[in-house]
Amino acid sequence: MKNKKALTLAVDMYGCPNRCLHCWLSHMPNRAMEPNADEWIADLFKPYFDEIEFFSWLREPDFCPDYRGRWERDKMLSANAVPPRFELASFWRIVRDPEYAGFLKEVGVNCVQLTFFGMEATTDRYVGRKGAFSELLKATEILLDHDISPRWQTFINEENKDELPALLQLSKDLELAKRCEAFGGVFRFFVHPGSCDGENRKLYPIRIIKEHIPEELIPYFLNYDELYPEKQWYEMWKDDTSHVVPHNSEGIVLYVTNNYDLFFNFTHMRPEWRIGNLKTDLIDELIRRVVEEDIPALREARSITLGELVRRYADPFSEKAFEEEDLRMYLLNTHLERMEE
Ligand code: SF4
Repeated sequence: MKNKKALTLAVDMYGCPNRCLHCWLSHMPNRAMEPNADEWIADLFKPYFDEIEFFSWLREPDFCPDYRGRWERDKMLSANAVPPRFELASFWRIVRDPEYAGFLKEVGVNCVQLTFFGMEATTDRYVGRKGAFSELLKATEILLDHDISPRWQTFINEENKDELPALLQLSKDLELAKRCEAFGGVFRFFVHPGSCDGENRKLYPIRIIKEHIPEELIPYFLNYDELYPEKQWYEMWKDDTSHVVPHNSEGIVLYVTNNYDLFFNFTHMRPEWRIGNLKTDLIDELIRRVVEEDIPALREARSITLGELVRRYADPFSEKAFEEEDLRMYLLNTHLERMEE
């Protein structure tokens, strides 16, 4: 019998032009997959799921020269579903391909998120490409020309916190809110610290301290009231007997790397979170692991309490700011990493 849950398959067919220092997926090489890998993968899952959304990207959307044909093929490979378009697009392509923003509008994209890490030098360094900041500004203008609202996302830490007010001011100087309103759009600027998975784990030493957040950014801060210092979470959780076990309660989302490794979308794509490999493991067994959520990281997560994770790995004196879920996952991943060592 087919699984009742809908399946989302996101396959890393084309990679990403960036190497962001906060990338929660972790950095991976860009590697071309075999021709027809997409169809082969979709067909593997079709006997097990009635509803499948197929995405040929996992990192940069539309980082494929024939993005039009690709979009049609993603829809064709899906089953009883149309893969949604998100507020995500390739700013790399927006500034290089004069047709692309028009395509986005055509397929119903009315807002595109652009990510900044501060002003020019800092953003270029965090994106991993010289010129990224000026591309983001140029992409903003191109989107506006196509009646698409840019949304400026910023990540804050102790290193870049003093640059972000200037970035907010730049968005005001460019009158982005007014220019979006002119075509019925909405400009948003928001700030957050990001999760602590993948590459962002390495930024733990410079994680923002709540008291250091510049006052003018607070109205733009995502979930500001849910941000607490690590030491406070430590006190709240040190005797907690529950477990940190991520779970797919509704649909199932699976990531496929360009070497056919399979992962849940719970956190970064490190070996302990690997479900298996589509080329070397039997699909029946992979589906069992997916449905039963039976992989090494989740087995370990069920065997250690939150209290124990906190007592072992959290810093009772740390002022670093975390939202609940981000710290829980950070602690679980710390535990998994230490076990590997
Ligand atoms: S965060 Fe997104 S754009 Fe940046 S490296 Fe990761 S996948 Fe690429």
